[in-house]
Amino acid sequence: MTNRKSPTVLVAGGAGFLGSHLCEALLARGDRVICLDNFLTGRRRNLRHLEREPRFELIEHDVVRPLPASLRRRPFERIYNLACAASPPHYQADPEHTLLTSVLGARHLLMLAEAAGASLLQASTSEIYGDPEVHPQAEAYWGHVNPTGPRACYDEGKRAAETLCYDYARAGRVAVRVARIFNTYGPRMRADDGRVVSNVVCQALAGDDITVYGDGSQTRSFCYVADLIDGLVRLMAHEAPGFAVPPVNLGNPVELTVSDLVQRVLAMTGSPSAIVTRPLPTDDPRRRRPDIARAQELLGWAPKVPLDQGLKATILWFADEAEDGPRGVVV
Ligand code: NAD
Ligand code: UDP
Repeated sequence: MTNRKSPTVLVAGGAGFLGSHLCEALLARGDRVICLDNFLTGRRRNLRHLEREPRFELIEHDVVRPLPASLRRRPFERIYNLACAASPPHYQADPEHTLLTSVLGARHLLMLAEAAGASLLQASTSEIYGDPEVHPQAEAYWGHVNPTGPRACYDEGKRAAETLCYDYARAGRVAVRVARIFNTYGPRMRADDGRVVSNVVCQALAGDDITVYGDGSQTRSFCYVADLIDGLVRLMAHEAPGFAVPPVNLGNPVELTVSDLVQRVLAMTGSPSAIVTRPLPTDDPRRRRPDIARAQELLGWAPKVPLDQGLKATILWFADEAEDGPRGVVV
């Protein structure tokens, strides 16, 4: 379907795990989608099934660099900024590039949004709360981030990107939305992503040792990808007086320890894998759970997919996809 009235939407980081699901969801709504990605952690094969869709276009570009001039002539109505590696081993591999991706990437996309009169949604993160002293984390909490540690390139980059978004909004230059995304999992995570769900599932399926960092008592709250994408689309559609919708947490408030997660995956896969412990990475947050009252109130959003159902879909996907592929990356 090509419809001249289809809104044109830019998805920066659209070849990644979340971005590829977002591109798919927007095309299904009838939008025209332009995906911008440098393939740092994203993959062309995440988008292969969309290549023949006439409303879809893929542009290879690094958002650290000024955007291609040709984009300035496109009638964007909405811009989603998801461009940034999200897994600790990937974003720490080149910390300078990670920081610049968040800061300069947000600036370049905000400038484009201003020129086009488009709204911009910034994919922020629960990491802006750092190792939180407040539990669960509500949006009013300012966070507890180590500005000089190995996670700072990501956490502080995302914090600065939020700052820039609200500076543009306060000046009446761009209508912004900021989604603070909590740990999300599902099909199209990379087997070598390094995050806990992909590592544990791939290790269990292969019968390899399961790597638990620290004593496994640290907690996270895992959101299935379909729920998260629904939240992003609702947030973009949400209108508020003035230019700034306040930041909104998107995540699943069901909290569990890393050890609980491992036990569930072992039970679901029937894997004989043994558990081995590795040192807890520096600045690894001890606890994390979103307070989603704001998302419920503003967007009528709450996650629907229970962990066991989401894990089952993820395990099946990795069992198919990763048969001969790379194993989890251990930090
Ligand atoms: P991902 O690594 O799969 O996707 C990131 C995408 O951005 C990739 O396609 C990558 O190639 C692209 N990218 C990275 N740097 C770029 C650059 N300089 N120029 C252009 N493209 C670039 O990660 P994801 O899990 O899909 O995360 C997407 C977004 O959501 C990220 O901004 C991340 O910070 C945020 N987020 C994700 C989670 C999660 O649990 N998945 C949690 C919090 C926040
Ligand atoms: N983790 C683990 N084993 C792994 C990968 C991660 O125990 O193989 C731990 C990690 O130390 C953290 C939690 O699982 O406490 C979630 O890690 P992830 O990288 O998925 O997300 P983040 O730390 O960014 O929330």
